[in-house]
Amino acid sequence: MSSARSLTSAPELAEELRERFVAIVGARHAITTPEDMAPYLEEPRGLFHGATPLVLMPASTDEVAAILALAHAESIAVVPQGGNTGLVGGQVPGLGGAQGRRPEVLVSLKRMRAVRSIDTDGNTMTVEAGLTLAEAQAAAETVERLFPLSLASEGSCTIGGNLATNAGGVAVLAYGAMRALTLGLEVVLADGRIWDGLRALPKDNTGLDLRDLFIGSEGTLGIITAAVLKLFPRPVEQATAIVGVRDLDCMARLFARARRVGGPMLTAFEIMPRFGLALVLRHAKGARDPLQAPAPWYALIELSSPLADEGMGEKLERLLGEALDEDEIADAAIARSLTARAAFWALRERLSEVQKREGASIKNDVSVPIAHIPEFIARADARMAELVPGCRPLPFGHFGDGNIHYNISQPPDMEPAAFLAKWDRLTGAVNEIVLSLGGSVSAEHGIGRLKRDLLARVKSEVEIDLMRQIKRTLDPKNILNPGKMLDV
Ligand code: FAD
Ligand code: ZN
Repeated sequence: MSSARSLTSAPELAEELRERFVAIVGARHAITTPEDMAPYLEEPRGLFHGATPLVLMPASTDEVAAILALAHAESIAVVPQGGNTGLVGGQVPGLGGAQGRRPEVLVSLKRMRAVRSIDTDGNTMTVEAGLTLAEAQAAAETVERLFPLSLASEGSCTIGGNLATNAGGVAVLAYGAMRALTLGLEVVLADGRIWDGLRALPKDNTGLDLRDLFIGSEGTLGIITAAVLKLFPRPVEQATAIVGVRDLDCMARLFARARRVGGPMLTAFEIMPRFGLALVLRHAKGARDPLQAPAPWYALIELSSPLADEGMGEKLERLLGEALDEDEIADAAIARSLTARAAFWALRERLSEVQKREGASIKNDVSVPIAHIPEFIARADARMAELVPGCRPLPFGHFGDGNIHYNISQPPDMEPAAFLAKWDRLTGAVNEIVLSLGGSVSAEHGIGRLKRDLLARVKSEVEIDLMRQIKRTLDPKNILNPGKMLDV
């Protein structure tokens, strides 16, 4: 990815057609001026700049259905967007598919944010796609339940976007990704028909599972308008520690121990190198080093229980005591208050933002089997040093899921653009190592536009062929998010 991909202007939409689209949502909820559209056309990393003739903000499933029925009849492309926090360009309109340039109307789900119902017997809630993840978590809290999905972008990302990307985050270890947290969906199909699959049944073996087809489909198969989500008992006891670790072999042993001691109560095991913590300490206001002496690696470990008096604190102390005795860890700090816990988590959550302050960075969201993480990082570090001497790898993330965000900061004395010109070369080298270890080139952010051409290279012909056939069946005119995930 050598430079930002952009379009300066959007193909026009015939005036009469534009008016028919606008009439569906009402003029107040249609955006037509470049200034007002701007926030919908830029994405968090600034890699893609979009263009659209029209942003529509429907308020109901029926309005979404009317938009798609019209788009289908007129062969107008539609790009769904939630919180616009996606990291692979999937939500950016106007990047074009195989059929060349045509108008791509952006449909923002932001106004569809109702909590339709909460069932405390069945432990489910039915919410609309535009509800933010933080709002969904808060809705669960009102009935003393937990909706466990947790991402650094949770204040803005939406349930629809979480579903469309099968989002992961820091709680996958204990609860699974978005797919595992969903029972039913409501989806508007490409031709405007509504599929009401809002079933709240843990057991339902009646034919093919359409729900799982739409989850992770990145807006290419239908627009998700609502979902039935699973709720869990809320943790009442938590114990959190930051631990200094000498190397990744010790980290792997520590993780195995944490699993043994914590069992299902191990709810987070996140890692970062000293370089990551150093950046947080340098750039994030109020951040404090949790340990007295620097360590090469850090783990943030959390144990949680929905039951009181389960002794999470003692369990964590026992885990860390054993690890110290076995020389797996150098030092550890346990959070003694909610404020201390929040401060530990902030060190982890601010990693993405502080990297921006160190110039350009090249990002890889990859996964490998847990046992191969040490080898993956050692080989990737060595390769990066060969390719760009002085570059600064910052591998961090969800050790317990085998999911490493292998980000690389530019050498301090290099021009950012010159470093970014190496994007394809560096990510290509990282991916080669990932694939040789049986890993995935996109662990949680999806394919979107950024990794579309890579997908065709890493999946078998059979798999790509099946994906294309499904796309053609559900979206025969290729109007839904064209050019994303697959170039159909
Ligand atoms: P958008 O960005 O608006 O859209 C993403 C994709 O979903 C696009 O392809 C879009 O077309 C499609 N889409 C959106 N809404 C719908 C809908 N209703 N129906 C059909 N298709 C739809 N992701 C993780 O998985 N784990 C992380 O830990 C994580 N951390 C992040 C941290 C930061 C700081 C940031 C900026 C992003 C992070 N992300 C993470 C990525 C991002 O937040 C997730 O992909 C999120 O699920 C996207 O939700 P959104 O509502 O912003 O979707
Ligand atoms: Zn992540």
